Amino acid sequence: MDLILDGLNSAQRLAVTSPDPILQVLAPPGSGKTKTLTARVAYLLSHHGYLPQDVICCTFTIKASREMRERLSKLVGERVQSRLILGTFHSICRRYLVKYGYLIGLKKGFGIADSDDTRAILRRIIKRLNASIEVKAAQGRISRHKAHGLAPDDLAERAKAEEMELVDVYRQYELALSASNLLDYDDLLLRCAQLLREHPKCVSNVQAVLVDEFQDTNVIQYELMNLLAAQNRRITIVGDPDQSIYGFRSAEIQNLKRMQKRYSNTSVVLLESNYRSSAAILNSAQEVIEQDTTRPDKKLQATHSYGTMPVLRKLPHANAEAQWMVMEIKRCVAMTGGVLRMSDFAVLLRSASLSTRIESAFGRAGIPYKMVGGRKFFDRTEVKTLLNYLRVVSHSEHNDALLGIINVPPRRIGEETIKQLTAGAEKAKVPLWTFMKDVIQGRRSTEKKLQKAAEQGLCSLMRLIEAAKQKLQECEDASAPRVLLEHITEGLSFQEYLIRTYPLDEDGRWANVTELMGQASDAAAATGDPGQEEDLPEIEGVEQQRAHAGEEALSRFLANVALATEAAKQDEGEEAGETVTISTIHAAKGLEWPVVFIPAVYNGSIPHSRAEVVDEERRLLYVAMTRAQALLYLSLPLRQPRMGEGEDASTTLTQFLTQKLVKTRFRPLGPQLLEKVVYSIADILRRPRPALEDMYKSLETLPSTLDDQWTADGEERREANTEWNTFTGNDSSDEPNPKRR
Ligand code: ATP
Ligand code: MG
Repeated sequence: MDLILDGLNSAQRLAVTSPDPILQVLAPPGSGKTKTLTARVAYLLSHHGYLPQDVICCTFTIKASREMRERLSKLVGERVQSRLILGTFHSICRRYLVKYGYLIGLKKGFGIADSDDTRAILRRIIKRLNASIEVKAAQGRISRHKAHGLAPDDLAERAKAEEMELVDVYRQYELALSASNLLDYDDLLLRCAQLLREHPKCVSNVQAVLVDEFQDTNVIQYELMNLLAAQNRRITIVGDPDQSIYGFRSAEIQNLKRMQKRYSNTSVVLLESNYRSSAAILNSAQEVIEQDTTRPDKKLQATHSYGTMPVLRKLPHANAEAQWMVMEIKRCVAMTGGVLRMSDFAVLLRSASLSTRIESAFGRAGIPYKMVGGRKFFDRTEVKTLLNYLRVVSHSEHNDALLGIINVPPRRIGEETIKQLTAGAEKAKVPLWTFMKDVIQGRRSTEKKLQKAAEQGLCSLMRLIEAAKQKLQECEDASAPRVLLEHITEGLSFQEYLIRTYPLDEDGRWANVTELMGQASDAAAATGDPGQEEDLPEIEGVEQQRAHAGEEALSRFLANVALATEAAKQDEGEEAGETVTISTIHAAKGLEWPVVFIPAVYNGSIPHSRAEVVDEERRLLYVAMTRAQALLYLSLPLRQPRMGEGEDASTTLTQFLTQKLVKTRFRPLGPQLLEKVVYSIADILRRPRPALEDMYKSLETLPSTLDDQWTADGEERREANTEWNTFTGNDSSDEPNPKRR
């Protein structure tokens, strides 16, 4: 039997062996689209005699292309596989440009500017031009103009006066890139399209082009696909309109129709069996996506047994939610008698800003994790900026922190002023802050007189910091960090600043700020905990220095942040080992895990409060749920910190989980991991069943079930059950008995 077709169902085989030149495989998640596409590549090589270098295969992420190469190694051998043109659109374009770029005037040996590089270049230019636009805003706007094929000159013709600054920066940016022989990400796609348009010969060898995750290609990628296949017009795409989640980044779901129109000989194969998830998980996901009545009805057959119902859990607040995940993961690992390990778990998030509490809970509990698809929370620019303000308030000698905020938000303090100040401070051997204050108050002076505008900028910064210091003195309790953050964000009009600077991304950034506020409040609440002594015990004969309570709270908060950042750095090195994955839903597409957690399923988080297309939000939840193979957990905190209004706001369960759905497809508590459940997990994952004995041995090491462990008196559980009944309108307590055995 043919190794390539082995283990494929009949619809999949049909797709793999189809002689049709233009083929669309449209199918729901977990139906083996990627597997089928991989097999078709192998089939084209071995049965059609195509050479590997004549076949182009595009994946959506680097991780996906790595996985596909692994699978192909087994099917066609390492040597053949290594010569395939397989990668993301960007990496494939780069290969073409390296080879043929000279045809369109590219210099040999060009480099690629990643986003850190482009930011550094822009920063220099903006400084030189003394422009007021923020670096990242310039980066985003230039990128969008490029994607629409607009050069600086095109823009200049129609730009309004206030946009002329951007045009100048854009022009300089292009000059700088070409002067250092660099291409940015957008250039890779654009220049390659240009190359193929002007010199179609470059791809005259290409026999077939295959594209995974087609529903998320954008206009330029679609165009590239056609250009790459121009010679022989053999294209296979696989995709699922229900999983289109990159509309916000100009992916075009219409590309499917566009393709059918362009190639009248397009044939379509549908796959209908799901091999990934238990029937219980599949049914619940299916009901979510079916709420979209505009989509064509599709069949989806589970191949696995029913398995364990997904869990929906309400927790009092976000910290409890994170803590609950920690315990549930630990419990699953222990109770399944070795069937599950840490790397089988994933936590999938609507927004990267949700990761911070989870990361710190995992960190404290010693659960190894890796964060995918988002920057570490405290590294995020807006968070860093606010922390720097707090540092300066708490500890004004912190020169780096001061330099970090001296012109953020922009207050017309330029390079020259900063140079004068730092030189002066060094000479006078005083902290920058002191020197700066002295200059403003006329006690000292810089070598060259400062410009009026810069002096005004320094004044306003000083006033803000001094007022914050005053506020800190007045605030004699643990609420100081939060109070100060509110004071500072207000004084800076920080939200307006974010809107101005990051028009594309302002809400995500503001969410980070709110999250930081929440953490500051939590720090305050934690002070009362018995485990966190505020003071060391009194020792007779040794006097303690009494710190101002507010000051102490602030400096402890900052120290904790610094430590958390350190810990996070160490974690990055552990990637390869047994780690739980924390990822955005966007970065999780195409992937699967035995156990998936989706926290924060409340309105405002998903659908996101700023989302423009509710259907895309529903698809996001659908994508997230369909990543799970054996166990699926959804959860939400009952309360969520609210900005500036003191009290926390209560949350409501996401509109995508209707009462009926919750009642019929979910259960409230952690799964009862009896042998039946463990066996079903093992079967779904095709892993050996553990011996009963081993299972019960590991059970003995556990302190009863999660919900007994969660609070000793079971208070929490009773609460959860009452809530469950309000969720479902169900008075008879028919939820599964959480007691085991
Ligand atoms: P997504 O839409 O999420 O990208 P997909 O349709 O690409 O999903 P795959 O990732 O290819 O699905 O397959 C999902 C899982 O099902 C994989 O673990 C794969 O190995 C398995 N699978 C696919 N087809 C079969 C089959 N015929 N027999 C057994 N397992 C299969
Ligand atoms: Mg796939």
